[in-house]
Amino acid sequence: MKILIINAGSSSHKSCLYNLTNNHLPEHSIEPIWKANIDWTVTKGQGILTVKTNETKKNNVLNYNSSCQGIIQMLNTLIEGKTKVIKNFSEINIVGHRVVHGGTDYSEATLITPEVKTAIARLIPLAPTHNSSNIKGIKAIEKVLGNVPQVAVFDTAFHCRIPLKSAAYPIPYEWLEKGIRRYGFHGISHKYCAEKASQILNKSLTSLKLITCHLGNGCSLAAIKNGISIDTTMGFTPLEGLMMGTRSGSIDPSILIHLIRKYNFTANQLNTMLNKESGFQGVSGISADLRSIIQAVNEGNSRAQLAFDMYIHRLRLHLGAMLGSLGGLDTLVFTAGVGENSAIVREKTCEVFEFIGLKLDPKKNNDFPVDTDVATDDSTVRILIIHTEENWAIAQECWRIFNQKYLPL
Ligand code: ADP
Repeated sequence: MKILIINAGSSSHKSCLYNLTNNHLPEHSIEPIWKANIDWTVTKGQGILTVKTNETKKNNVLNYNSSCQGIIQMLNTLIEGKTKVIKNFSEINIVGHRVVHGGTDYSEATLITPEVKTAIARLIPLAPTHNSSNIKGIKAIEKVLGNVPQVAVFDTAFHCRIPLKSAAYPIPYEWLEKGIRRYGFHGISHKYCAEKASQILNKSLTSLKLITCHLGNGCSLAAIKNGISIDTTMGFTPLEGLMMGTRSGSIDPSILIHLIRKYNFTANQLNTMLNKESGFQGVSGISADLRSIIQAVNEGNSRAQLAFDMYIHRLRLHLGAMLGSLGGLDTLVFTAGVGENSAIVREKTCEVFEFIGLKLDPKKNNDFPVDTDVATDDSTVRILIIHTEENWAIAQECWRIFNQKYLPL
């Protein structure tokens, strides 16, 4: 069975093809046979298409900026040239899309019907760049692959059971009725990590109190009780909560009122400032990438040091908030680019929580851990480093839906 995954983002399109040779879903993730990525950020009006297979890696410059055309050219590399891995598109059984916003309508992955497409489009005002890119991705697949089954896997779905006391904002109730509430994001990754943690610990998910820390360019935490997300740091949009690569995370909303009144900031200017010019990038003035920040810290750069200290401080604060929601903790999980690779971030984050019995083993923490426990034997809380596999999680959902709907009983 061949499953194509499409992650049509705002500034990049990522895709991969899984080939499941047996009739059952493997317990652990497998490597895709083809991976492709279009980066639209390198040069204005152009995209860089990179395609990798087991045998080859190819780069192509796309001299246009149409995402639909780009996705079609990316898909053609499946059946043409040195990166060809299938004879024709009809070999693809099902396509899974990562869709950022499913609102409160979708609590799980769903087969894409005209109604689902309408719902994704209806949610565009809540995730303007993301949901419109998802619609383009779905249309591109229809164009190239015809009526192949397509599945939407929502980044918000895992958080849809967060109780109202956490989901609602303390503003006039009518805004809650109009959909202004916490939705939460990175749900595919938080859910994958929770399930993987239960596998690693060999304990039922329903018996665990977990906090998962997804720390990539975007960062969020989730408090997970009995396998259900009961709280998370991102909110109405993926801007709330932790300090991130280029995003501010939570700030006093009166700052925005001040900037509007005193400096005539427009909505677009505020949006750019908070989403693209803040976080590591904005505070350090150096980079959004933690690796460059750490290098600058080591060279004695004081703004890089401030950015790093703020990142850790805010991470600890929000961890405290998730602890308060959970009322206890069995396992802390670190995942994504920073969470998986930065031993210093894990060390600095954990050191203030020793008072709850959480103890990181420095040797294990520095030993490039993957899908392992890095807590000391006597720690009362397990600390896991998990390599997040969002594409594989989407493939699992596709496999489940395909077997329910398309195979005879
Ligand atoms: P995205 O959120 O875009 O999926 P990733 O999860 O890949 O991003 O995380 C990207 C970030 O991870 C980079 O910006 C960088 O800050 C961080 N990162 C990646 N590798 C390392 C490393 N070895 N040490 C520290 N930080 C790293």
